[in-house]
Amino acid sequence: MSEDIFIGLDIGGTKTSLSLGSVDGVLLAFRRVATEAAAGPECWFERVKGLLDELRHEAPDAFRRARAVGVAAPGPMSVARGCMIAPPNLPGWREVPVAKWMAAATNRPVFINNDANAAGLAEYFFGEFRGTPDLVYLTLSTGIGAGVISGGRLVQGARDLGGEVGHHVLDREGPLCPCGQRGCWEMYCGGRNVADRLRARIAAGARSRVLELAGGNPERIDFRALVAAAREGDALATEFWTEFIERLAQGIGTILMFFNPSAVLLGTIAIHTGEFLLVPLHAALPRYAWSLSRKGVRITPSVLGERIGDLAAIAVAIQGIRAADVRPPGCR
Ligand SMILES: [Zn+2]
Repeated sequence: MSEDIFIGLDIGGTKTSLSLGSVDGVLLAFRRVATEAAAGPECWFERVKGLLDELRHEAPDAFRRARAVGVAAPGPMSVARGCMIAPPNLPGWREVPVAKWMAAATNRPVFINNDANAAGLAEYFFGEFRGTPDLVYLTLSTGIGAGVISGGRLVQGARDLGGEVGHHVLDREGPLCPCGQRGCWEMYCGGRNVADRLRARIAAGARSRVLELAGGNPERIDFRALVAAAREGDALATEFWTEFIERLAQGIGTILMFFNPSAVLLGTIAIHTGEFLLVPLHAALPRYAWSLSRKGVRITPSVLGERIGDLAAIAVAIQGIRAADVRPPGCR
C-alpha cells in the first residue's frame, strides 16, 4: 500500500473539519469541531491541534504516511504566504498564518486555497466529472463563489481572486453589498441575502406562507422556508424564487460565456432543490448565453455532497504536491 495520504483542514464560519484522505478521495478518518470564530484564531488553533492528536491516535499508520497538508479556508487570502487576510465570515481574524501554524504542528508541507477554488479542485479530482479539463464548481449557499478549472488548471488569478464571481455586478442600481459595490450576484443569489430581503418585506407587512413555515417567527425566516413556500405556490415566495432563478441564470450565463465549461457543478441550494431549480434555470439560460456555449454543458448539483469540504482540503494538498513535484529546483 504505497497510496498517497494527505491531511485536510477545512475551515468554515461555523465548523472546522480535519481529515485524512487518500489520493483517490477516500476519507479515512475525520473530526469536526465548532470554529467559534469570536474566541479568536489562536484559541481555535489550539482546538485544531487537539484534533490532530485525535487523528494521529485513531489512524497512526495513515497519519505517519501523510505527505502534505491542504487547507481550504474562506477568502480573501494569500496563497503564497499561506495566510487568511480578513475573511468576512470570521470577524476579527486578520493575517492568520494558518499554513505556518499547520506546518509547525505537522512537520509537513502545507498548501492553502480558498474554499470555492478548493471545491473546484475536489470536483476535478474526485467528482462526477473528474478529469474534465473545463469545469466550474459554484458554491451556492450563504454566499457565492466559484472554483474554475480551465484547460486542466485552476484559475487562481494574480491576487488569488480568480473565481470571485459572487461580487461581479449584475445591476449597478441593485442592493448595496457589504463589499461596497451595488448589485453583486451574491446579493441576489446568496441564501442569506435573499432570506434577509424576504424577512424585510414580511416585516414591512407583506403576507406570505413563509411566516407560518418559519413557525410564525420572522427571525426564523430562512432560504429553506422560502423554497418550501415557493413549492406551495405562495405568491411572495414565488416572486423571490423567480428573481433568484433569473439572477442565477444571469450569473451562470456569464460563466458559460467566459469559460465555456463542459460541466457546472452546483452546491448546497441546488443539492436541496434539484429539478425545482434546474428546470426554470435551463429555461432562463438562453437569455444570457449563446446556444453554442450552452450546448453539451452539464449543469447539475454536485454529487460530493456533505463530503465536499473535506475532499476540497485534501484536493488542495494533492494539487500542491503535484505542482511542487514539477517545479524547477530552487523555486518555492
Ligand atoms: Zn459584493
